[in-house]
Amino acid sequence: QLKKHFPLKSQEIFTREKPVLKAVDGISLSVNPGETLGLVGESGCGKSTAGRLMLKLLEPTDGEILFKGQNITSVRGEQLRKLRREMQIIFQDPYASLNPRKTIEKTITEPMKVFNVPKAERQEKLERLLNVVGLSPQHKYRYPHEFSGGQRQRIGIARALALDPELVICDEPVSALDVSIQAQVVNLMEDLQAEFNLTYIFIAHDLSVVHHISDRVAVMYLGEIVETGDVQEVYENPQHPYTQALLSAVPEANPHREKERIILTGDLPSPANPPTGCKFHTRCPIAEDICRTEVPRYRQVSENGQIAACHFAKEVVAQGT
Ligand code: SF4
Ligand code: MG
Repeated sequence: QLKKHFPLKSQEIFTREKPVLKAVDGISLSVNPGETLGLVGESGCGKSTAGRLMLKLLEPTDGEILFKGQNITSVRGEQLRKLRREMQIIFQDPYASLNPRKTIEKTITEPMKVFNVPKAERQEKLERLLNVVGLSPQHKYRYPHEFSGGQRQRIGIARALALDPELVICDEPVSALDVSIQAQVVNLMEDLQAEFNLTYIFIAHDLSVVHHISDRVAVMYLGEIVETGDVQEVYENPQHPYTQALLSAVPEANPHREKERIILTGDLPSPANPPTGCKFHTRCPIAEDICRTEVPRYRQVSENGQIAACHFAKEVVAQGT
């Protein structure tokens, strides 16, 4: 049902060009090799759905998904199977995503078995993966319940890396962990990104974590991207009132300026029955009449390609385009 209403018109993954976002009746979301794109918003905004669409775990109603220049929207069968190798997901709840009856060895080597990786190679890879995620070879005989939350997420990460993926969708990978453990796991993920040349789409509602790990960020509200750009630029100079409100609640996002906290009033409207015009108008502190009737288009708001969908965002005309 949700996917029927999902309004992302097209998503480009791994374009070879610069991360230019074009707003053509929707927005095209792109991530470059080796980069981390942070996807943020309140729960229920469609972040996870977006991740699942990109992985082809869900079918888009509309639009297309490109992976390394190839249109994968309608890829099926053997081709899809091959594609699955290159795209993996790390889930929020490492406990729910690990089978309690399978040893760690089975959990991590199973994807390799599915793809007919020879046994010796599987074992070698298993040892290496346990090592790089900070677990010991002995751990392979154990079961998920014998591990802490942080260790279980390390196991989830090892499993995601078993097939040498290029793209890893990280769906709130540290939200379920103790704050003290979160930084360790995020740091590990950064190390692994460099070591294995990974591209991440990092989905989270915690803006500090996203700030730390992302190169670029996309802010979602009710299934739409309202702002996107270089993470530093967006965090220092958010142009969409929703991004401004989210960031005003993060103390470390803006240490220089004494920023007033912008409190959003009202509840998040139902995604099935979104407000007319700008979907944010029911909660926007600066909404005017036009916002209730007209959908704001995407405007480029910085030289560097920052984009915001707001009637009152100041447009910048890019040089030489
Ligand atoms: Fe607020 Fe209007 Fe901008 Fe939407 S278009 S974010 S309601 S000012
Ligand atoms: Mg989610």
